[in-house]
Amino acid sequence: MKLTFLGSGTSHGIPVIGCSCDVCQSTDERDKRWRSSLLVENEDTTLVIDTGYEFRLQMLRAKIKKLDGVLYTHAHADHLMGLDDLRVFCREQNMDIYAPAGILNSIKKTFGYAFNAFPGLGIPQLNANSVEPHVPFRIGSLEIIPIPVKHGTYDISGYRIGNIAYITDVSDIQIECNRDYLQNLDILIIGALREKPHPTHYSFSEAISATKELKAKRVIFTHMNHATSHAVIAERYKGIAEPAYDMLTLEV
Ligand SMILES: [Zn+2]
Ligand SMILES: [Zn+2]
Ligand SMILES: [Zn+2]
Repeated sequence: MKLTFLGSGTSHGIPVIGCSCDVCQSTDERDKRWRSSLLVENEDTTLVIDTGYEFRLQMLRAKIKKLDGVLYTHAHADHLMGLDDLRVFCREQNMDIYAPAGILNSIKKTFGYAFNAFPGLGIPQLNANSVEPHVPFRIGSLEIIPIPVKHGTYDISGYRIGNIAYITDVSDIQIECNRDYLQNLDILIIGALREKPHPTHYSFSEAISATKELKAKRVIFTHMNHATSHAVIAERYKGIAEPAYDMLTLEV
C-alpha cells in the first residue's frame, strides 16, 4: 500500500493569505501546506480521504487518473469544498463516497445537485454510502474501519485502512471506545494543529499523550497551522512523532 499526503495543512492553508510570519515566508517547500488530504493506493485500488479546496490541484500534482472512492472525515469546508471536481472521475460510472450518515446529510445540503441523476450535465454523479463506527467495509481490495472521534462537539470519523489509521481534526480520540481498533498500527496519522491548545484540535503534545498507549510504530502529524515550521516540529519531536509534508509518500 502506498500513502501520499496530498495536503498537510489546517483550514487556512499555509502560507496564510496576507501573513508575513516566518513559516508563511519560509522557502522550505515542506512549509507549504495545502488543505489536508491523503491518497491511499495499492495494486488495484485508489482512494482519497477528503476533497478540500485544492482537490483539483492535488489530483494534478499527484498525477491521479482514476479514483475508486472517497472517504469523508467530516463536512467542514476545508475537507469538502473540492467535491465538484470529482466530476471528471464520474464519466464512466458514479463515484462512491463514504461517511457516517450525519456527515453525508451535511454534504448533501452543500452539494445536493451531485446526488441527482442527470447524466451528461457536467456535474458529479455520486453514490452516498453510509458507514457505521467500527463496521468494516471494502473499497476494491482495501478494507476500511471507521473510527469515531470528537472534533470539539462534532462527531466525526477517522479511518483505519489495513495497518494505518488517518484521524484528522480530532480533539478527543475516544480511546476507551477505539482502543481495540487501533492496535498494531504501522502508521498513525493524527491531526495536530500547533503547540498551544485549541478547543477543537489536538496540540502536538496532546496528540502524543492521547495516542501513546497505542504504541503505533510511527506517529505522523497532519493538519498543522503556520505557528511552527516543519524543521522545528521534526527536531522537537524526534523519535516520538514526525510532521507530514505535502507529497510525502510512504510505502507500507
Ligand atoms: Zn480541517
Ligand atoms: Zn503565517
Ligand atoms: Zn474540521
